Amino acid sequence: MRYYVLDRGDPLSINLAEKFHKLAAERDLQLDAKSPEIVISIGGDGTMLHAFHTFIDQIPNLAFVGVHTGHLGFYADWQAEELSTLVDYMAGIGDIKPHKPRIVQYPLLELEIHKKSGTTSHIALNEFTLKGVDGTVVIQIDINDVTFEMFRGDGICISTPSGSTAYNKSLGGAMVHPSIEALQIAEIASINNRVFRTMGSPLLLPKHHHCDIFSRKEQRLLLTIDHNNIPVDDLISVRCQVSDKKISFARYRPFPFWNRVREAFLV
Ligand code: NAP
Repeated sequence: MRYYVLDRGDPLSINLAEKFHKLAAERDLQLDAKSPEIVISIGGDGTMLHAFHTFIDQIPNLAFVGVHTGHLGFYADWQAEELSTLVDYMAGIGDIKPHKPRIVQYPLLELEIHKKSGTTSHIALNEFTLKGVDGTVVIQIDINDVTFEMFRGDGICISTPSGSTAYNKSLGGAMVHPSIEALQIAEIASINNRVFRTMGSPLLLPKHHHCDIFSRKEQRLLLTIDHNNIPVDDLISVRCQVSDKKISFARYRPFPFWNRVREAFLV
């Protein structure tokens, strides 16, 4: 089993990463930074976003495991004190069964950003947002190549199902089970008057649909893809759709999505 560990960089996470390497060496797991089979993220859900983008080119060939240094997270099944149990599972030793993890796959968001200066492609695990730098943004939203609405306001958030519990939730978006292949459009403080009319409700688009966001004035924008910020002053449009790629998580024990939601927000 080839593995790699990414930690959040705080003393507790660094310490846990060191402990993980020690336990892994005792169980003949091989540290491999180039082509790991399992990538372990130690920290929080934010650390998983970093791990995902670090290994974005190898997404089809590996699975992620999250260890949370605080409460359990949406991308983290394990807590700090369970580290040696996790390594035992990975090494397949002792009485622990099953040794082979169940691979759970979550949908991702595919983005094509068209600027006057060129086009780039991206993938998001949580969400894409578009916001104004100097004030409100003016954008046109098309769904399946038909104009849907003209938006003026703080911005727009397009999230994946697993990202629906993050920024999207703060915007009043619905929480979506990651087995549903969809993207969600949520408004960030829209202005509604006779000129600018928006739906107001979050929208869910299925996998075979797409939406395009057109910049409709000269404006400095801040685009975000998960934790990454991209300032843009020559945006033409952004195409958003559910990606054909998926992220894989190695599940050594069940932790249903709705249990995570309940534990994160209610108990
Ligand atoms: P951060 O601002 O340091 O942390 C954002 C918070 O979001 C952390 O508490 C993080 O959990 C949590 N989080 C990340 N992914 C999540 C998910 N899928 N479901 C539920 N909670 C989640 O930023 P960061 O750590 O670099 O993470 C970037 C993310 O922050 C973005 O993808 C966006 O979703 C979120 N964000 C939220 C708002 C908002 O709600 N108003 C505004 C901007 C950005 P951990 O503590 O476990 O890492």
